[in-house]
Amino acid sequence: MRYISTRGGMAPQAFSDILLMGLAPDGGLVLPEQYPQISRQQLDSWRGLSYAELAFEILRLFATDIPENDLRTMVQRTYTAEVFGSAAITPLKRLNDGLCILELSNGPTLAFKDMAMQLLGNLFEYVLAKKGEQLNILGATSGDTGSAAEYAMRGKANIQVFMLSPDGLMSPFQRAQMFSLHDANIHNIAIQGMFDDCQDIVKAVQNDHAFKSQYKIGTVNSINWARIVAQVVYYFKGYFNATASNDQLVSFCVPSGNFGNVCAGHIARQMGLPIGRLLVATNENDVLDEFFKTGAYRPRGTADTYVTSSPSMDISKASNFERFVFDLLGRDATKLKALWQQVEAGQGFQLSAEQQAEAVNRFGFVSSNSSHADRLATIRQLDASDSVVVDTHTADGIKVARELRLPAETVVCLETALPAKFADTIREALHREPPRPSNLDGIEQLAQKVQVLAADAEQVKSFMRTTLE
Ligand SMILES: *Cc1c(COP(=O)(O)O)cnc(C)c1O
Repeated sequence: MRYISTRGGMAPQAFSDILLMGLAPDGGLVLPEQYPQISRQQLDSWRGLSYAELAFEILRLFATDIPENDLRTMVQRTYTAEVFGSAAITPLKRLNDGLCILELSNGPTLAFKDMAMQLLGNLFEYVLAKKGEQLNILGATSGDTGSAAEYAMRGKANIQVFMLSPDGLMSPFQRAQMFSLHDANIHNIAIQGMFDDCQDIVKAVQNDHAFKSQYKIGTVNSINWARIVAQVVYYFKGYFNATASNDQLVSFCVPSGNFGNVCAGHIARQMGLPIGRLLVATNENDVLDEFFKTGAYRPRGTADTYVTSSPSMDISKASNFERFVFDLLGRDATKLKALWQQVEAGQGFQLSAEQQAEAVNRFGFVSSNSSHADRLATIRQLDASDSVVVDTHTADGIKVARELRLPAETVVCLETALPAKFADTIREALHREPPRPSNLDGIEQLAQKVQVLAADAEQVKSFMRTTLE
């Protein structure tokens, strides 16, 4: 299996060589030359596998340059009951109205990002050791991604993590999650500024090419291919959990921001998993919803992005969307490149009515959106009907699933976080505290390790230099 760029400008490369990449050298996103096709016989033989066994079977189709025994060991070390709370790893809950919820948030940071990031930590450590290289990950976070990255990379050989967050702006729980890590390779930096200032600093450091290459600066953002492929696994697992036989169809409803999660669903469907439809749920930031309804992709700037109570979906430029559009255009890199020139010029693009219909009819995509009032209503209603408390993002998905669901359609809603992470909105909806996993009781009282710095790239660079020398 070799990997190419959506923009056509990268010679095909092996999995290990694209693993540590962000963007491809031509500015595109990395994809396999073709998606492996799963036969009915394979699907039948996978139905009874454990999560780790299934993950191995799927990953070996993509990571063909990693010896199978090494891959199996890594996958088995990753998907354990100790890390993910149960042997099932991703249990399925059935609601009274027949909707299913696939639990993806029982990992260390209580969000689905752990599902991929935990594997990424082991893959990075393995490939760096093989190549004899070091990696210094520099990232900016407003909460979720940063903590998932830190919990995945803590204690890993040849990896240091420098994570910038806006000083005083994360919730006490989020701060405690990140800053209570005392591993020698984890460096929390609280920037006296906003999240945008943190992102600007990351960009400034990345653009200092001498510094970047001297200190081997990398990232773990949502465009990383290995994160997508690790997410493909739970679509298969969720399908098996929700059905009695491989004759059935299942639709998935996915709360979406950067289009990484649902892109993995698209790939699972292209591989031949019997997925009916992919229901894309957005919050008030509804760029993706507009696209699937009209064929117009109009990314917005930060100034036009709402701050909502499902903050991990407050995204108006979906970084993984290019992967789907590449497939929609019949993998025509020239056409794709022309569209993304329009995106980068701030114009967005409008597809033809036929192309828009293809996204729906051939690729199974439909969408809708959800508002703050919808989230509150959904959280209250589920608490009353099922005694289930969901987080705000999962609530967006359930609202959309109920709206779009067809009679007799089996719909699995992906749970993207636990409510404990978004206590303010849960309190607003239910007038009580959200449940919290007992091992996190009192986490706010633990000693914290964090360095406060001004919003200045030079200060961040000098902190990194001192730490690394
Ligand atoms: C990251 C995140 C999302 C959005 O996922 P994408 O892959 O970016 O579409 C939704 N909900 C939660 C809780 C998240 O952390």
